[in-house]
Amino acid sequence: MKIAMLARNPNLYSHKRLKEAAEARGHSLDILNTTRCTVHIASHRPEVYYDGEPCIGYDAVIPRIGASVTNYGLAILRQFEMRGCWPLNESVAIGRSRDKLRSMQIFAKHGLGLPLTAYANDPKKAEEIIRAVKGPPVVIKLLEGTQGIGVVLADSMSSAKSVIEAFRGANVNILVQEFIKEAGGTDIRALVVGGKVVAAMKRTGAPDDFRSNLHRGGSAQLIKITPEERSTAVRAAKRMGLNVCGVDMLRSNHGPVIMEVNSSPGLEGIEAATGKDIAGQIIEFIEKSAKIGATKTKGA
Ligand code: ADP
Repeated sequence: MKIAMLARNPNLYSHKRLKEAAEARGHSLDILNTTRCTVHIASHRPEVYYDGEPCIGYDAVIPRIGASVTNYGLAILRQFEMRGCWPLNESVAIGRSRDKLRSMQIFAKHGLGLPLTAYANDPKKAEEIIRAVKGPPVVIKLLEGTQGIGVVLADSMSSAKSVIEAFRGANVNILVQEFIKEAGGTDIRALVVGGKVVAAMKRTGAPDDFRSNLHRGGSAQLIKITPEERSTAVRAAKRMGLNVCGVDMLRSNHGPVIMEVNSSPGLEGIEAATGKDIAGQIIEFIEKSAKIGATKTKGA
């Protein structure tokens, strides 16, 4: 197979591993820097160019689109889809999962476990939404945040209100959530490939940090997840429409609650914690699934 990977940094562990795993199975994998791709939109001739040359002949595309270039990256991915190239994750599904509020609404509709969550545009409604999630304490998070940046724990009504006012004053959108204290600064990342959890790890935050992100100095360990956690992860992936994703959950007193679903999960932490060849499993899934013209949405 000839595989394209849309990624900006070819030297990232995950990108190198996917390339190695593809080549070890006799495929070719070209890493295309998303921002160097251009789209030519002409009736009946959807084309993508890379450094001025047409991108043709790819059987599958692996999107590894960074949060900072979501819109541009999704436009490029859509163009591949419209050409009939099979995407590991579809543009529509990635777009859905990048919007935290939309994801939460979808999970809630389907009865998946979530922390109590509220959203308001008007800072004058701060007290109402803090009470709606049974706080304080509450967790306030940027809708567009990643890697734990912009996730704030506010212990009192006055601090919660001032954080909400500050964020809204800066014109950024936020969610307010019940603080899951019993999670103890630990979360669970379940990696789903093709509707199955293939690996899971527990991440514990740096001392004195309630956030467990590895980027914030947290550490990862192998964990055995419960059947309920497994089914929550699989259903969350299905509801997002993602073939490959990392589902982050907290262990709450009312069962597993979903934090977010990441459509470009990092492989380094989970391969190290579990000793599994996840990159290989992803390539195997592509081998089984990629058929020219098999894109369900065709990017629309
Ligand atoms: P990001 O997308 O920036 O990683 P998350 O929503 O995943 O943001 O939050 C980062 C971390 O903060 C989580 O992994 C978790 O450890 C902690 N956290 C987030 N929300 C809550 C909450 N409602 N209760 C307790 N801990 C939380």
